[in-house]
Amino acid sequence: MDKNEFHVAIIGGGLVGALNAVYFASRGWRVTVYEMREDIRTTKIAGGRSINLALSVRGISALETAGVGRGLLDTLIPMKGRMLHLGKTGRLTSQNYGYFGEAINSVDRKLVNQHLLSMAEKNLKVTLKFQQEILSIDYDKKILSFKQADGKIVKAAADLIVGADGAFSRVRRELMRVTRMNFSQNYIEHAYVELSMPSSASGEYVMDPNHLHIWPRQSFMMIALPNIDKSFTVTVFMPWANFDAIKTEANLLEFFETYFADAIPLIGKELLVKDFFKNPKGSLMSIKCKPYHYKSSCVIIGDAAHAMVPFYGQGMNCGFEDCLVLDEILTKHIGARGSVETMRPSAEKLALALEEYSATRNPDAEAICDLAMDNYIEMRSSVTKLGYKVKKSIEGF
Ligand code: FAD
Repeated sequence: MDKNEFHVAIIGGGLVGALNAVYFASRGWRVTVYEMREDIRTTKIAGGRSINLALSVRGISALETAGVGRGLLDTLIPMKGRMLHLGKTGRLTSQNYGYFGEAINSVDRKLVNQHLLSMAEKNLKVTLKFQQEILSIDYDKKILSFKQADGKIVKAAADLIVGADGAFSRVRRELMRVTRMNFSQNYIEHAYVELSMPSSASGEYVMDPNHLHIWPRQSFMMIALPNIDKSFTVTVFMPWANFDAIKTEANLLEFFETYFADAIPLIGKELLVKDFFKNPKGSLMSIKCKPYHYKSSCVIIGDAAHAMVPFYGQGMNCGFEDCLVLDEILTKHIGARGSVETMRPSAEKLALALEEYSATRNPDAEAICDLAMDNYIEMRSSVTKLGYKVKKSIEGF
């Protein structure tokens, strides 16, 4: 480790860790990203959850401030409102997100992650290390232990450790040993499964691609977001008990005939049955914790700090905003990106910056977790109320 450089270890090369590497390297810091999985730019195995996501203004600003928006923006599909599929026939009703064409954007998760890793790697200060699973951290000595793919345990040192290792964060778990961290984790009774709705025989979208499609059914719902290959990714959200009750092909088709009949010809019976039984069913939970940091040694961001249920479409967006907010606070305490004074920050100033980050970011992140929980009721039920035409904000579904 070069003593003249400031070394950061980012644990997790997912959406948020990769963007944060871009931000931190532009301070002149030496950044190593340690990712448990293989490099998703070269492996065929699809990692993570949800094939596509909604990217909103919140996330776009963080990407643009880091200078990595370009190259992604071409792949976004704007969704300017919700398209409700109501009743047995799936009667269509459009609800715009705003009066001036405001939109959220459907984007491919894998593509965003690949793009951000490549953008990070463009900076020679960034090293990406894959198949490195963090096992333990000594925050006072700033020593990390990893398990490699061959089972070997290796150690590394860093001046600052960033936990971007997702909802089941090991960095957060280790942080709990050294801080008086308040922590809550709540599973909801609903789960999800993803299905695909292919393009038409002529290669076109089978539904309007500029809407987020929702089949609100009071106690459960189905949604669909468009993909650039003209397909849609469909997600069914419902209680585990409903999933458990669908045991056979006949059960599934009867369920779809009753609640989502208009979607059957669009998905196709064969594909519907195949995807529903083959694809994993995912749990949904919300995590809140505080503080997010320890002295000048560590900070957690993204889902590691605030995993949320996906009904506000803000988990990734909020994680991207974490990077932006952290950057602004670092600028305030230790100088702007690219400035000489930021390159080797003092431990005192860095600790002050991380303390301010924890204190100011936590209430905002928890508010978004709560909004996400509330929005499930809105999406599966309130949207169907008479007179409900325009949403109040363009953040969220
Ligand atoms: P992750 O994406 O979980 O990445 C964490 C990374 O850390 C992974 O690469 C993982 O391999 C790595 N890692 C984990 N453990 C270790 C370890 N021990 N050592 C080393 N590396 C490790 N958000 C939106 O903004 N809009 C949406 O529309 C949206 N839709 C969603 C739909 C669904 C069904 C779900 C489940 C989530 C959705 N989200 C959405 C939320 C979004 O997926 C998350 O908020 C986002 O992935 C968080 O990014 P992250 O980088 O913090 O964590």
